[in-house]
Amino acid sequence: MWPLLRRVRDRPCEFRPLAEEKKMLIGGKWVDAASGETFATIDPARDEELAQVPLAGQEDVDRAVSAARDAFEDGRWSELEPRKRAGVLYKIADALQEKAAAFAQIETLDQGKPVNFAIGEMIHSAFVFRYYAGWCDKIYGETNPTGTDTFVYTLRDPVGVCAQIIPWNFPLVMASWKVAPALAFGNTSVLKPAEETPLTALWLAKLAQEAGVPDGVLNVITGPGETTGAALTKSPVDKIAFTGSTAVGKLIMQEAANNLARVSLELGGKSPNIVFPDADMAKAIPQSAFAIYMNAGQVCTAGSRLLVEKDVHDEVVDGLVGAAGAWKVGDGLDPSTMVGPLVSTTQLERVTKYLEIGPSEGAELRLGGHRVAGEKGYFVEPTIFTGVKPDMRIAQEEIFGPVLSVIPFTDIDDAIRIANDTMYGLAAAVWTRDLSTAHRMARGIRAGTVWVNGYGGSDPGVSFGGYKQSGFGRELGVHSIELYTSTKSVWVSL
Ligand code: ADP
Repeated sequence: MWPLLRRVRDRPCEFRPLAEEKKMLIGGKWVDAASGETFATIDPARDEELAQVPLAGQEDVDRAVSAARDAFEDGRWSELEPRKRAGVLYKIADALQEKAAAFAQIETLDQGKPVNFAIGEMIHSAFVFRYYAGWCDKIYGETNPTGTDTFVYTLRDPVGVCAQIIPWNFPLVMASWKVAPALAFGNTSVLKPAEETPLTALWLAKLAQEAGVPDGVLNVITGPGETTGAALTKSPVDKIAFTGSTAVGKLIMQEAANNLARVSLELGGKSPNIVFPDADMAKAIPQSAFAIYMNAGQVCTAGSRLLVEKDVHDEVVDGLVGAAGAWKVGDGLDPSTMVGPLVSTTQLERVTKYLEIGPSEGAELRLGGHRVAGEKGYFVEPTIFTGVKPDMRIAQEEIFGPVLSVIPFTDIDDAIRIANDTMYGLAAAVWTRDLSTAHRMARGIRAGTVWVNGYGGSDPGVSFGGYKQSGFGRELGVHSIELYTSTKSVWVSL
């Protein structure tokens, strides 16, 4: 399909502005960190350094934020005719689509994910830009019902400078979910990709620049969360959009209070995937494997708790053990791979710790349960624990790995109670042929997304976000206008 590449450095790729990729984009210029410091991004399949990228310090963060501020204040983007803004975003979408294979290879090398999944994500990211390009000239205000001596209308203004901090599990997808709406609604952005996976965000910045995004409108800075991310969060920005762990989300919210920056948070999850006895098992079982093993379980909406009605428990678990066999673990560049490595040694330690916690709490290991032996990369076997009680740590804490906890339930009320017995509320799925069961479950589950007879659907036109400690704010779809615009009421006395 496309040449498999071993290393970024020597890959024969037609799209190869590598000199720029290893610099950051600040105020329209590709720059090193002011200190000259760099850090390594690692290929998790081989435990090898992939590239060195700049380590942005306070001075770089300040420069990026002030470039975004200048670009916002002088209206070079927000006051551009909406149709022209749309034209630029359409160009980014086209370029992303055209270069999807090259982007996918880089994503796979940097993140570990199977290249066939990566290419779908690149195309999705292009769709996100195309979707938001369509919004640029459809941002309407309203007229308001006041007395006859006044005429009141509303304008939707951009919020201003947006700090956008994203995780490593879907690097380009997350970048597109942040940058496309921010730009469509007339804002400027300072984007900080995760330190584990900075490469595709830098490539995106390159495409954006080539597509005509004016200098300073999109800035991308690279560096660790505790330093670069924290400095960005403390900066005088108007909005912080964050996707990542619940613990860091709480820190960010505290920091945002100092500037009263608006905050939107998309955080962790422990999503219940709920199988009733009348489900179409031919679909429910393989898709339940997909729900937990896709992206090696490093998905905020992963179906990490499988709730199964007790009478079909054994049938479903046996089926899952069989279905898991299709999830071949290996190098993401191999097109037959279904489960790549975990992204980092930190993540490997976190997940393997839970492989010990499960049995120590009394759960029964039904499948997997180990790091893949003899591999340098950070591979973990698809794992299933049965006999899991709702209060066990493996049923409550987000593992972010290919580890499934199976919990039996008795009836609808029991299923809703267990499903909601978590601090998270990001997503859930229900498998049943009964219309009433499906809708009662959908209403009863406290989560931002509920799938019925499917798992993991995502579309730029469908809003996404959390309940409870999974965060707040809705990205994508019509509701994202609330994240990136402010409403102004204009009173005209007649
Ligand atoms: P994970 O634990 O899955 O790595 P994090 O929430 O730590 O998720 O990381 C998500 C993003 O948040 C990354 O871009 C990371 O660099 C950033 N980040 C981590 N810690 C902080 C922090 N204290 N302030 C701002 N950003 C941070």
